[in-house]
Amino acid sequence: MDCIFCMIVDGKIPSSKVYEDESILAFKDINPQAPIHVVVIPKEHIASLDEINASNSDIAAKIFAAIPEIAKKAEITNGYRVISNCGPDACQSVKHLHFHILGGAQLSERMT
Ligand code: AMP
Ligand code: ZN
Repeated sequence: MDCIFCMIVDGKIPSSKVYEDESILAFKDINPQAPIHVVVIPKEHIASLDEINASNSDIAAKIFAAIPEIAKKAEITNGYRVISNCGPDACQSVKHLHFHILGGAQLSERMT
């Protein structure tokens, strides 16, 4: 499949891994938008948040259960922001569900 994040999961593209378990991978964003910027993805290909439903939402729960540990592993110590861009108006560029964790500095009060 022509999906950059699936290629990262398969080890075909290198990544700077922060956390991995049987269903989740977290790695440093290649183009960081904060001093610490980690991307968390399900290993299974789900196109976006818009594809989450009752039968696959367990992966969303697993990701959120892992986020505090991922933030600690990324050495975020004073709070963080979690963002998922979904669809064109949100400028989603990689069509594989992912959550950005941004931290390491005081972030803007604006979210747009
Ligand atoms: P989004 O714009 O929300 O779809 O976010 C996609 C993110 O993936 C962007 O922040 C990119 O910098 C990041 N990204 C794209 N390719 C890679 C890669 N090979 N390794 C790490 N991060 C990547
Ligand atoms: Zn994918």
